Amino acid sequence: MSDDAAAAGPLPIVPYLKLPEGGDPYLEGHRCAACGAYFLGQRDVCGACGARGRMEAVELSRNGELHAYSITHRSFPGIEVPFVSAIVDLDGGGTIKTNLIGIDPDPEKISMGMKVEVVFQIAPRKDREGNEYMTFAVQPANRGD
Ligand SMILES: [Zn+2]
Repeated sequence: MSDDAAAAGPLPIVPYLKLPEGGDPYLEGHRCAACGAYFLGQRDVCGACGARGRMEAVELSRNGELHAYSITHRSFPGIEVPFVSAIVDLDGGGTIKTNLIGIDPDPEKISMGMKVEVVFQIAPRKDREGNEYMTFAVQPANRGD
């Protein structure tokens, strides 16, 4: 089956990264129809208000604001450091944790609340079976406005 792996295209690095056939990748959240809370990943019960069976899948925005970040200087072997680990509040709802790329890992250049956009990219490494993975990160937004 590993021969089919490359032909099938990259696999999503997390279940909530969706790769529609012939469409652009996006992040999927689940929104509670009762209270409006957003979550990543599928669930039956709302963690905010306890409503059952009211979660609906929604496509999350590609734009957001930097909520918090940390510059990571130590990581697993083979992971290039330093990198910026970020928590981003997406426009319209949903919060993601990912890496902030396209900017120096320097606190003087990174500001809380800065506009960022989600970008999707193929991971640099394959797994043991030769599968490629689609990952996501955020970068400073280039909104041209
Ligand atoms: Zn709720």
